[in-house]
Amino acid sequence: MINKASIVLLALFWHIGVHAQEDYREGQDLKEWFVNDSKHAVVAIADSSATPGQQPKNIVLLIADGLGMTQLTAAYTANGGRLYMTEMPYAGFGTTQSADNYNTDSAAAGTALATGVRTYKGAIGVDMNKNPLPTILHLAEAHGKSTGLVATSAITHATPAAFIAHNTSRHNYEAIAADFLKTDIDLFIGGGKDFFASRKDGRNLLDELKKKQYQLFDSLEEAADAKQGPIAILTAGKHNPRWTERGDILPVGTQKAMEILAQNPQGYFLMVEGSQIDWGGHKNNTEFILQETLDFDRAVGRALQLAAADGETLVIVTSDHETGGMSLESGNFEKGEIRAKYTSGGHTGVMVPVMAYGPGAEHFTGFMQNTDIFHKMHALFGF
Ligand code: MG
Ligand code: ZN
Repeated sequence: MINKASIVLLALFWHIGVHAQEDYREGQDLKEWFVNDSKHAVVAIADSSATPGQQPKNIVLLIADGLGMTQLTAAYTANGGRLYMTEMPYAGFGTTQSADNYNTDSAAAGTALATGVRTYKGAIGVDMNKNPLPTILHLAEAHGKSTGLVATSAITHATPAAFIAHNTSRHNYEAIAADFLKTDIDLFIGGGKDFFASRKDGRNLLDELKKKQYQLFDSLEEAADAKQGPIAILTAGKHNPRWTERGDILPVGTQKAMEILAQNPQGYFLMVEGSQIDWGGHKNNTEFILQETLDFDRAVGRALQLAAADGETLVIVTSDHETGGMSLESGNFEKGEIRAKYTSGGHTGVMVPVMAYGPGAEHFTGFMQNTDIFHKMHALFGF
């Protein structure tokens, strides 16, 4: 018999099931003060700005989810006045709005960056009419390039999903995982193994990946000897833990991805996401934000070092939106100390920084729309 109580229970279980991956938005963990006691060295990277007018063979797009100018300034201060991100020779600003809202979300924002089309919040690779859009990853694959995704969230979460999947809702993680099988993505590293292996439809996507010759691993250590794609490294059932527990899988994964994808003489497209800067922002937790941003900067450093060595890789760093309405009350470069205040537990509409290095980097200056990032990448790839 269906009564009111069972309907409430059903609704509750639906909510828990669908939103179990959105826990990071729940609850405040306010920490205004942070001191960075482990500053990382920033190694000088050869300046790529001397030879404009070139076309990149490879593009690495690194997205710092939830990073605005304040988070960048805070990380710059906490690291003693030097970051890889701030060493990049070209910089500009990008707008973040979605088609239906001043304050976007990572699904609409990821779709704007991946496809050049603004859509509604929650949309994964589909337009306002819910029609699928080709992404830069799909286009790169269609033109013979290798492709890859790396994230510290589940690999099915909104930002990486927007580059590979088409879905009317960011919450359909199992359908998003199934969309990976519709491509020939050469490499992906992130959490989200459960959405491939323990599914309501009974499919085991890990077996299906194996049939497509993928090598499967649970950790970067296990994958150390794997030198070629296709390869999937699923480092957690759902999301990876915070940097304090997961360690340096983002910088190491970024380097691994670039080394494997670089074997294709026709080049590659790689998206790398520092997923959890946003989660620290939702919690108004300065320590969380800065640990994640500094980890992301070390991943940018790995990308810049490899790009400097090969001379044919464009590295773009940007964000999908700012999270937390963060502002800086005080800072100290010597102590790596930051005190911050917050005006929001969600996303804000402020512009985000865009930085670029390598062939074609000179196009990423001044003010641009989030959708321009796609159009510039598309034009530079020449297809
Ligand atoms: Mg994200
Ligand atoms: Zn968020």
